[in-house]
Amino acid sequence: MLEDKSPQRTSLGQLGEFQLIEHLTKHFQINQPSTQFGIGDDAAVLDFGTQKTVISTDLLIEGVHFDLAYMPLKHLGYKAVAVNVSDICAMNATPTQITVSIAVSNRFPLEALEELYAGITLASKTFKVDVVGGDTTSSQKGLILSITAIGTAKEEDIVYRNGAKPNDLIVVTGDIGSAYMGLQVLEREKQVFLVNPNNQPDLEPYTYLVERQLKPEARTDIKELLEKLEVKPTSMIDISDGLSSELLHICKASNVGCDLYEEKLPVDPQFISTCEEFNIDGTTLAINGGEDYELLFTINLEDFDKIKGNPNFTVIGHIIPKENGCHLVTRAHTKIPLKARGWNALEE
Ligand code: ADP
Ligand code: MG
Repeated sequence: MLEDKSPQRTSLGQLGEFQLIEHLTKHFQINQPSTQFGIGDDAAVLDFGTQKTVISTDLLIEGVHFDLAYMPLKHLGYKAVAVNVSDICAMNATPTQITVSIAVSNRFPLEALEELYAGITLASKTFKVDVVGGDTTSSQKGLILSITAIGTAKEEDIVYRNGAKPNDLIVVTGDIGSAYMGLQVLEREKQVFLVNPNNQPDLEPYTYLVERQLKPEARTDIKELLEKLEVKPTSMIDISDGLSSELLHICKASNVGCDLYEEKLPVDPQFISTCEEFNIDGTTLAINGGEDYELLFTINLEDFDKIKGNPNFTVIGHIIPKENGCHLVTRAHTKIPLKARGWNALEE
């Protein structure tokens, strides 16, 4: 975990805006050759030569997208970067730069922003992206964080959502459902803590789940891995809202249907045991729980041998003609229509 609680409180009012920006950004280093000029002028200057540029942006609002009661600021910074970098990976592009914009109320001391930036710095090192700019302003209430990620790819390497064809295999990286289960664990511990603040949460049996929720990793390794295996996906998306919702996005954009197999879904043993403890159906959670930030893609059937047995990939179904619809095929071999419930609907 990334925990580091600092007791000091320096009011933001003690620093001017420029001093604050200087303080927060002075440690950023430039690592990407495409970054010609980063922070310090009116705009950053980037050079991608003959490659295409890929851009994605996200806006995160306190109380809507995150809850600081169980999301330490350092984790928030890390996660906000990871989520954006993941979108670039989902285009089969290489993330190279990010910009970070924040609006903060005077409720936050300087030390809180230092924590946030420690997470951002760690993530930018991990995912090898340069922080090349941003904006800093005040908000009336709470924290607002916006990150824009920039990446690059050769035109022929870029993968969109709309290229899936009947007979393609549906593949997912890593495992799914754990991030959502981690949130369930954290929410339960928060309730226990509210009832009795002396109750220290015991998260030991749930470390993997909580880590998946608080410190998700963008799959920056997959582009290179697929290149080595000489596989170019026919379509790709990252899993932010849940497998079933993302798969339906691919099907809609590609004008196809799909069969997804319950028995193939890759889940972690800790996910299974915690679902049992919470008395929740693991399959419902694995296909609807979000925030795993794994990649979901389709490949030509002929490419199956190239990915077969690779621990990073699991084949979970196949693409069929649109007329046949989108279904989950259960262990009992019944077909249930796939619905885009998204992870918010799980609260109902
Ligand atoms: P401007 O007046 O042009 O908006 P600023 O004074 O806001 O410029 O920013 C000065 C420099 O610092 C710019 O390069 C900007 O991109 C960068 N910057 C401002 N805020 C942040 C931030 N929160 N994180 C990273 N870089 C920032
Ligand atoms: Mg500005």
